[in-house]
Amino acid sequence: MRKLFPSISPSLDMASRAVPRVVLVNGGAGFLGSHLCERLLAAGDTVICADNFLTGRRENVAHLTGDSRFRVVEQDVRNPYDFEVSLIFNFASPASPPDYQRDPVGTLLTSVIGAVNALDLARRTGATVVQSSTSEVYGDPLQHPQRESYLGNVNPIGPRGCYDEGKRCAETLFFDYHRKYGVDIRVGRIFNTYGPRMRLDDGRVVSNFIVQALQNKDMTVYGDGQQTRSLCYVDDLVEAFMRFARADGHTTGPINLGNPAEIPVIHLAELVRELTGSRSRIVHLPAVVDDPKQRRPDISRAAEELGWAPRVPLTAGLAKTIRYFDALLSRSEADARR
Ligand code: NAD
Ligand code: UDP
Repeated sequence: MRKLFPSISPSLDMASRAVPRVVLVNGGAGFLGSHLCERLLAAGDTVICADNFLTGRRENVAHLTGDSRFRVVEQDVRNPYDFEVSLIFNFASPASPPDYQRDPVGTLLTSVIGAVNALDLARRTGATVVQSSTSEVYGDPLQHPQRESYLGNVNPIGPRGCYDEGKRCAETLFFDYHRKYGVDIRVGRIFNTYGPRMRLDDGRVVSNFIVQALQNKDMTVYGDGQQTRSLCYVDDLVEAFMRFARADGHTTGPINLGNPAEIPVIHLAELVRELTGSRSRIVHLPAVVDDPKQRRPDISRAAEELGWAPRVPLTAGLAKTIRYFDALLSRSEADARR
């Protein structure tokens, strides 16, 4: 039976403090993974952060290493591993298109073998395993907004296929392990999420626009900029995953997790320029192959099953992210002068 939460409560902190867990966060040194590690520790859990540092950084979790309940392990999730855990977050995978297209075969294998290894560990330990799936499973969607029942429109042979098909295959593995071996799974389909700890050179739209605007450089819109995205602030997304991990075992998902506030890329560029007070020009570069033209989550399932909805408006989230990148740029400029 589905759990119905009548209202959107501000935080799950009380519930998440209930039973301390030993949690493995694959990809824990990345953008989302590091925020998740932080939240889990704050909730009283013990955390093992496993990462091969392909796109993540030790600095992202350096502030947590003084906590005796936190451990960083250098681990490629494509290789076998073993930990005694009660909860696994499988967040290891490059996520930015330039990152995941740099080594497409490696990306696909990270999704597929990474899922098998996480699921095998869950099967052995009885742990709950949470998958960071993606809106990319819908490809260039012909249904708008996207509901979880939509089966998608992915080009399997295009340059995004390594990521999209890898994530789709991982979902298949999650549901097969659930049906065949009774593994307790949660599959969250993440829509574009942004915030502090994205890399300066990450290549995703929010980091690119903010860094370009802060440096008064040309802001690069790919194509005409009429394609849309719906942007979620990182704290909201992490809150959703904290709830999902605590939800009862019938709440397998898939559940869309994102902010339905949709914006054309060109308007995002204008908004970032305004918020930074930048003198940047907005320039158009060639459109990206297979770039989804529109993307917006239907989050009614997340509201119903997790009692969750995003709370941080785009301008507030962008302002926090701008402050982060501003400080990061000042630091790297000071380092360069030394
Ligand atoms: P990120 O690149 O910052 O983090 C990914 C982390 O995984 C990095 O620390 C990286 O070093 C690690 N990693 C990559 N390959 C690995 C491997 N083979 N073994 C061990 N570690 C490995 O990206 P992110 O935005 O934090 O994304 C985290 C997860 O969320 C990814 O699985 C991504 O597909 C998913 N996701 C993110 C978004 C988003 O908007 N941020 C959207 C949809 C899905
Ligand atoms: N984009 C852009 N300029 C950039 C980076 C991205 O116009 O410098 C566009 C990109 O073509 C896409 C959207 O912004 O339409 C989101 O891109 P991102 O790489 O952040 O994520 P995606 O949703 O494509 O995985």
